[in-house]
Amino acid sequence: MVEGVLVVDRDSVVALANPAAETILGPALAGKSLAVAVTDPKLRGLLESAARSGETSEAEVESGARTLALYVRPLAAKGGGLVTVLRDMTRLRRLLVMRRDFVANVSHELRTPVTAIQGYSETLLRGPRDAATQREFLEIVHRHARRLGALVEGLLTLSELEARPAEQAVREPVELAAVAEHVRATLRERAAQRGTVVEVAVAADAIALGDPVGLEQIAENLVDNAVKYGKDAGGRVRVTGERRGDRVVLEVSDDGPGIAAEHVPRLFERFYRVDPGRSRERGGTGLGLAIVKHLVESMGGSVEVTSTAGAGTSFRVELPGAGAPG
Ligand code: ADP
Repeated sequence: MVEGVLVVDRDSVVALANPAAETILGPALAGKSLAVAVTDPKLRGLLESAARSGETSEAEVESGARTLALYVRPLAAKGGGLVTVLRDMTRLRRLLVMRRDFVANVSHELRTPVTAIQGYSETLLRGPRDAATQREFLEIVHRHARRLGALVEGLLTLSELEARPAEQAVREPVELAAVAEHVRATLRERAAQRGTVVEVAVAADAIALGDPVGLEQIAENLVDNAVKYGKDAGGRVRVTGERRGDRVVLEVSDDGPGIAAEHVPRLFERFYRVDPGRSRERGGTGLGLAIVKHLVESMGGSVEVTSTAGAGTSFRVELPGAGAPG
């Protein structure tokens, strides 16, 4: 059972502790006095006062880095020992905090484009403007509407990924070379606008076992980022792929300014951006890498990044390969 159960006798000695209680409080509790078995003074205080008063009590206690919920029930009127049910709420609490932060982040992200769309469209509705101003305002409205669209799209993708049961995941052989070529074609114009060349060198035997649509999304996000955040002019993005035993590796590297080490551990978090202004200006939502990580892991793979400030960035995706090697 997940709940810890601790029975303390009338002499304040632990008569029984199940394995879950020992996971929470520490090993080998039976036979120890309450004072020795329960080291956290707050927890111990609650148990002692319940034993003294003979009243049932329920509480949630911060004990070190953990949040514990406990239910204490005396076994007899007063001084007759007690039974305590403990539950470690740390994970649940953390999830609740994450959800709260996520909702706050989403609202914050949506507010800017919504405010801009409202403001500029109201100005346009209030009276005629010269053609150039009208066009300029409409372009602003359009840009923010696209941003809203991208945010909603990204959020939907993430929630669909989270809701999809693992057994429904598509698993089929996918040639990484074809994926890379397709992504290069999709992003050709955007790369050309930034003066970036995208080079593809993917081995023919680099065949992943996964979801072709997901793989395309992964590669597109990584190449798009490499173009967006790579060198401003004359940049070079390389997409390589190869088989390694029963795995395949897809790597997207750029020769841009790189990412400072302190940002690297947080890159895959939702809405995390190194430079929020630059990301927004380039149409980013801060969700791309969170989606990449989700997709890669749902296919049984892993993704890692190596980056040196000033010397470019490289994202490496490792996935299960299809069939026997070679
Ligand atoms: P965004 O929509 O902002 O591009 P992502 O989740 O795709 O969101 O990426 C998160 C952040 O990681 C980006 O805002 C950017 O700061 C940084 N980043 C991603 N790829 C690169 C790269 N190739 N070079 C430098 N920074 C990058």
